[in-house]
Amino acid sequence: MSRNINPHATVDPECLTPAPEPHGRHSAHFSASSLASQASATVGVDSARCYQCGKCSAGCPLADEMDFTSSAVLRMLQTEDPAADRELLTSQTIWLCASCEMCISRCPMQVDIPKLMDFLRQRSLYEGLANRDARRNIVAFHRSFLDVIRLTGRSYEIGLVVDYKVRSGKLLQDLTVAPAMFLKGKLALIPEMVRDRRGIKRIFKKTDE
Ligand code: SF4
Ligand code: SF4
Repeated sequence: MSRNINPHATVDPECLTPAPEPHGRHSAHFSASSLASQASATVGVDSARCYQCGKCSAGCPLADEMDFTSSAVLRMLQTEDPAADRELLTSQTIWLCASCEMCISRCPMQVDIPKLMDFLRQRSLYEGLANRDARRNIVAFHRSFLDVIRLTGRSYEIGLVVDYKVRSGKLLQDLTVAPAMFLKGKLALIPEMVRDRRGIKRIFKKTDE
């Protein structure tokens, strides 16, 4: 099975703010209610609607790389078994999902799997259960991206790459492609700043609340 992590999956910035106390497997919050009921209450995705036709998994471009396919994720949620919930929160699947929405476009019950995957990523971070590879790659990438946006209000590739390398420890990865990108004008040395920096600050403050 591939150990690659999808860097394009989305995570709510709020969830990248470290929780005051890391929540572990025995946290009261985790065991209070099933993931299925939490998903239904917080993001309105009702896993009980799934009748296991498998159309979502059949169309998912990343199904072969996932430890649990999308239909298996739905089935695990339906069991409301704490062990299955924990397996989901520690899985690679939730980080590999690219939020491409192929699954929901094929689902006869319109189960919003991309939204569900977002929810599971958020819970996984909150509970301190995120897959170790995901933490080193995707979470580091998201934090680096947000650092750059917080600072400049725009995407700034060099800043993003440097920040990501420091966070992930992958100092030499893809270093050889940098000169060609620079010569083609893909890497600007000086970042462009948005004018309304206060607006950016307000957005981040709101997500921190
Ligand atoms: S959004 Fe759906 S189809 Fe796309 S990668 Fe995620 S689970 Fe697969
Ligand atoms: S396509 Fe919809 S109903 Fe079918 S297995 Fe996937 S989520 Fe369930």
